[in-house]
Amino acid sequence: MNKENKIQKSTILDLRAKFVAGDFTPTDAVAEAFKTIEEKDGSIHAFLAVYEDAKAEAKAATKAYANSETENKPLLGVPIAIKNNILIKGKKATAGSKMLENYTAVYNATIVERLKNAGAIIVGATNMDEFAMGGSTENSAFGVTKNPVDETRVPGGSSGGSAAAVAMGAVPMAIGTDTGGSIRQPASYCGIVGFKPTYGAVPRYGIIAMGSSLDQAGPLTNTVADAELIHNVISGLDEKDATTIVPDTYREVEVKKKNVFGVPRSFLQSGVDASILETFENHIKLLKEAGHEVVDIELPFFEKGLSAYYIVMPAEVSSNLARFDGMRYGHSADGNDLLDVYEKSRAEGFGEEVKRRILLGTYVLSSGYYDAYYGKAELVRKKMRQELAEVFAKVDIILTPTTPTPAFKFGEQSDALAMYKQDVFTVPVNLTGVPALTFPMGNVAEGEIELPVGVQYIAPHGGEDRLFALGKEMYDSKLDS
Ligand code: GLN
Repeated sequence: MNKENKIQKSTILDLRAKFVAGDFTPTDAVAEAFKTIEEKDGSIHAFLAVYEDAKAEAKAATKAYANSETENKPLLGVPIAIKNNILIKGKKATAGSKMLENYTAVYNATIVERLKNAGAIIVGATNMDEFAMGGSTENSAFGVTKNPVDETRVPGGSSGGSAAAVAMGAVPMAIGTDTGGSIRQPASYCGIVGFKPTYGAVPRYGIIAMGSSLDQAGPLTNTVADAELIHNVISGLDEKDATTIVPDTYREVEVKKKNVFGVPRSFLQSGVDASILETFENHIKLLKEAGHEVVDIELPFFEKGLSAYYIVMPAEVSSNLARFDGMRYGHSADGNDLLDVYEKSRAEGFGEEVKRRILLGTYVLSSGYYDAYYGKAELVRKKMRQELAEVFAKVDIILTPTTPTPAFKFGEQSDALAMYKQDVFTVPVNLTGVPALTFPMGNVAEGEIELPVGVQYIAPHGGEDRLFALGKEMYDSKLDS
């Protein structure tokens, strides 16, 4: 990965220290973000929109540093990027879909409000799989995003634009959303850090819904410390989202020096590349050297997560996307009568993958099939939660690779099922609502090229602080700069 600009080398914490010292200002940082986008994004295509008003905001932030008006603004002057399914007032929120190509947000998502209040400067919106459905960003209605590590490969998805924006050095942090792995999988493919919070930790108000019982927004960053900083800014109770939970009650999981890691051995048979398993075993060795204990565990229901996910998620998708009917939001086609308008608008506005999932979801929820499919999947989900409770009585962290393979080449996973299998380790986390962190555990060789691969740490509900502490120990502290 090239590291020529200051943003690529800097964490948010470093950038802020530079701003305070005055040797590099928010104006410089935002100018550098724009320059990198201009130089690289013609080819990478991480961004769907770039916001010129960021320059004026940067000037104001530079002035604020000069006047020492920095209190309660942990992100003052830091350029960031936001996935385009998150509403920013006055900007287009397309969700990567033709359906919302011309939809302008009329209010800010709660997390956007919080990031702005903390002083962050939003320089642009990032590309994504349509309505967050996909694992490669190939499903965007606005063209693919390339992986900055190797441009013949996908950056992962659905938050592929956010991962690429960070990996190409345009911004030190981007926000993504994760319904089944969409923060963690692209972070793993692009060699960066990704964090999926406990369900309910981060408000979903103003985020275009995919699967409401699964969706969470979180950071993609260069370090775990930065992910922690961002999570602390965006999380917390929101009166506009009744599913948010209070940090005092949920962040009570103990942070210890020596932890017990559980490795679900039989789960690792799920088609994982030999080179990834080798890197994973190496990580286990490092954990042991650091004084942690690593034990084998069984997660028979967790292993069924992918099957349950592809029932629960489409069911929620079919309900959530019913609102895009050509009357209330977005693309509207002319028709002979109301039904005709609905049908044509949806036929023209949605892409193939979105249609596939709406059909699947409608089927599993239909009378006669509901009990056989949706009911069963919810039962599996319940069993998964029980299983986790039992396992977490014995171990502090569950350890898996983040993905079974490194980033693949464009078009290589053209069969939908092969693509779905990339999420085998990430979706059980969303189905059970627990938090998980991914960071690079090493590289694997694919011919001439070295590709990054991530390791996933899964904690019990509210275990964010345990994840951050361990991530800083096992990743941040080993970075050279
Ligand atoms: N790749 C998964 C899917 O296609 C996850 C998507 C997501 O987390 N938004 O459903």
